[in-house]
Amino acid sequence: MSVVIETEEHEALREAVAALGRRYGRAYVTKALDEGKGPEELWNEAGELGYLGVSLPEEYGGGGGGIYELSLVLEELGAAGCPLLLLVVSPAICGTIIARFGTEGQKREWLPGLADGSRIMSFGITEPDAGSNSHRITTTARRDGDEWVLNGRKVFISGVDISDATLVVGRTEDARTGKLKPALFIVPRDTPGFHRTMLDMDLAAAEKQFELVLDDVRLPADALVGDEDAGLLQLFAGLNPERVMTAAFAVGMARYALTAAIGYAKERQVWKTPIGAHQAVQHPLAVAHIEVETAKLMMQKAAHLCDVGDDLAAGEAANMAKYAAGEACVKAVDTAVHTLGGNGLTKEFGLASLVNAARVARIAPVSREMILNFVSHQTLGLPKSY
Ligand SMILES: Cc1cc2nc3c(=O)[nH]c(=O)nc-3n(C[C@H](O)[C@H](O)[C@H](O)COP(=O)(O)OP(=O)(O)OC[C@H]3O[C@@H](n4cnc5c(N)ncnc54)[C@H](O)[C@@H]3O)c2cc1C
Repeated sequence: MSVVIETEEHEALREAVAALGRRYGRAYVTKALDEGKGPEELWNEAGELGYLGVSLPEEYGGGGGGIYELSLVLEELGAAGCPLLLLVVSPAICGTIIARFGTEGQKREWLPGLADGSRIMSFGITEPDAGSNSHRITTTARRDGDEWVLNGRKVFISGVDISDATLVVGRTEDARTGKLKPALFIVPRDTPGFHRTMLDMDLAAAEKQFELVLDDVRLPADALVGDEDAGLLQLFAGLNPERVMTAAFAVGMARYALTAAIGYAKERQVWKTPIGAHQAVQHPLAVAHIEVETAKLMMQKAAHLCDVGDDLAAGEAANMAKYAAGEACVKAVDTAVHTLGGNGLTKEFGLASLVNAARVARIAPVSREMILNFVSHQTLGLPKSY
């Protein structure tokens, strides 16, 4: 199938990234977690090899490819058991938004580092009282002379501790009308008034989540990315890639879990044939495989639409891909754990921790229900209940 859809270059990139993933593997992530570390070595090596920056423009140190290539990188690392979650935010959201809407100065300052991985940027939109409903965000940016002053709170923001800066979604306060508009600001990690508290997540992931408080955070005029009046358009230029990348995260993890389960089902024998010979064991694996491959196809379509610049069509496809991949991943991991029987719950086989991790793709960055709402209203034209 992939021969028809992908070019030889894609296949070569897939194989090269898969080889890197195999060298690290799940054991690397497990060890990093036990030591309370992040996946720095893998991140740095992937950066040096050009994989982190594959979607960013060549003139700023990137590979000149698109979200298709970047999603392929995340999928293959995930399929090897070592996904890099921050690929979703640093190059895919922040890199895309800066490349499309940043000033020349912002591009020169940030894109080469985001491309080679030497700099990382996190992304903060979610707020305690504005989760699924991001129209309700209250983080506010006020002009004070040449500066911006930001106040507000964010929650569940990934990787703030290891990010050089966070791209914060706020609202500007229009001095004349008092009207609020969404706008994006680069907030360097050590800016006075920018406080973070690590959340105690029950997740076996190297990347941590944070609650942020912005308390009179003063930023120079050039911290604003893009036009303060074009917030939504700019936001979605980053959010469509985010959904495609979350789909890639889910497809990769699902492939990893299914490969482990299929290998086990071929070996494990408690009657006269391996357990994988029983249809009650093989059919759920076959269903899971079909659903993962179907979701992947939608992900590839969405990535392609992002890369040709059809933001509207990409939005719909990226939402559907994220939904399909999230659901396929949750089911594939559940099926894999069950295939291993008791071993599915041991640390040695390492699948049980994926049960929680898989659900991230169902909740973030936009929940399953909000995608169903979007498709109901935008695609099917049904009325809104809220
Ligand atoms: C591991 C992890 C990493 C994350 N990283 C980031 C990050 O880096 N940056 C960032 O900004 N955010 C991040 N998030 C936040 C994530 O995007 C939010 O958790 C998500 O948008 C859901 O918001 P919420 O948690 O407030 O849930 P809520 O909005 O409170 O929703 C709770 C439940 O109610 C349902 N619901 C709500 N409204 C409706 C409705 N109208 N119709 C039907 N159902 C509804 C939802 O589907 C959900 O099941 C992360 C979250 C996680 C878990």
